[in-house]
Amino acid sequence: MNKLVIITGASSGIGAATAKAFSAAGHPLLLIARRLEPMEALKLPNALCRAVDVLDSVGFKTAIDDAQAKFGPAEILVNNAGVMMNAPAAEGETAQWDAMIDINIKGVLTGIRLVINDMIARNSGTIVNIGSIAGVKTFGNHAVYCGTKFAVHAITETIREEVSSKNVRLITIAPGMVETDLVNHTTHDAAREGWWSYAKQIGGALKPADIAEAIVWSAKLPQSVCVREMVICPTKQEP
Ligand code: NDP
Repeated sequence: MNKLVIITGASSGIGAATAKAFSAAGHPLLLIARRLEPMEALKLPNALCRAVDVLDSVGFKTAIDDAQAKFGPAEILVNNAGVMMNAPAAEGETAQWDAMIDINIKGVLTGIRLVINDMIARNSGTIVNIGSIAGVKTFGNHAVYCGTKFAVHAITETIREEVSSKNVRLITIAPGMVETDLVNHTTHDAAREGWWSYAKQIGGALKPADIAEAIVWSAKLPQSVCVREMVICPTKQEP
């Protein structure tokens, strides 16, 4: 039997597509997000779905313990849960900055800490963190979001160096524009509409399945091969 894969943010978008792709490859899954129903609605076999906030380290750990008791050790963690609320920085709201910084950075760190010691002890394991093109270059209206994604890239590469001798891989997958609910949480109308209008102008953003395919491909390469970072954008996306 293939080994356990944990996916955060599996209730929609890239996370849900990644859950389907790993399931199709025969993996048991632990799916985590705050909303339970959309994960259960995927109706994937050998999938434990848990309504957990990635900032709730106790609930997150309990879910991992339960999944490992059922399916064995977690071989792959995909830290995908994230939020984006765009606005010019001068008009930014503290609560939205907090949500992005907490979920996008501390949520990823929490996931890593919950699995990495076992992976080190087993001399095997893969952590895929979802960064962004906004973690490689800056975009207007995205100051805080870019900050969080630059942090994800830095954290991933730093920890990769720390655990590489233990045969544990850390991978950053950095998508460009992908058609999901992500941008719809932006309450600044012009920033949200600007995203969709540019996506339309270039003939559409990527589909979540495009990113899921890259995640599964990189994670299923031999353990001796580490894709450190992959940036994947629509061909016609200019910035
Ligand atoms: P979605 O909004 O479709 O998915 C985000 C997922 O994260 C949802 O399943 C949501 O579930 C979950 N989530 C958010 N906050 C929490 C939390 N506190 N605890 C647990 N789960 C949480 O967007 P995407 O699929 O696009 O986003 C996935 C990742 O891809 C994000 O990290 C995003 O930054 C990144 N990305 C996306 C791009 C795009 O253009 N779409 C481009 C580059 C990167 P729930 O609300 O049920 O908790």
